[in-house]
Amino acid sequence: MKDTGRKQGTASPCAACKLLRRRCAQDCVFAPYFPADEPHKFANVHKVFGASNVNKMLQELPVHQRSDAVSSMVYEANARVRDPVYGCVGAISSLQQQIDVLQTQLALAQAEVVHMRMRQSATLSNLTEIPTESGSPSSKLMGPHTRSLFSLDMVVEQAQMGESMWLC
Ligand code: ZN
Repeated sequence: MKDTGRKQGTASPCAACKLLRRRCAQDCVFAPYFPADEPHKFANVHKVFGASNVNKMLQELPVHQRSDAVSSMVYEANARVRDPVYGCVGAISSLQQQIDVLQTQLALAQAEVVHMRMRQSATLSNLTEIPTESGSPSSKLMGPHTRSLFSLDMVVEQAQMGESMWLC
């Protein structure tokens, strides 16, 4: 349990009022979100947005949304201080790139699954009548990278060759 919180009346000022060197009123709009024991939280927000803008934005919001707005401003301000050019856009676009890479990997893996299923059903049909495919031995000679690209081509080829051959 912390005992450093704001006491009624003779309280120590909140982090915002302390930095702005002003008296922290009982109804200070900053006090609930910028406690005295977290001085850095307000410093960057003040540097990036300006105290009066933060004050205005908080006043315009219903009380239940203010805490979310403050976390967002703190995050954006810290990102802006870390990366003055891109701010949190830098983080967003690097996450977007990760998503793109992972989606490509997922698509490749799904194509591989389709390919394997088709080979499996082809092997089953081979047991009855259909002659063996000539493409498979050469794929074993290639490296893992070219092979997966090759497999992708094969999936497309096989799909175009007509479903009747592979579906029982
Ligand atoms: Zn205050």
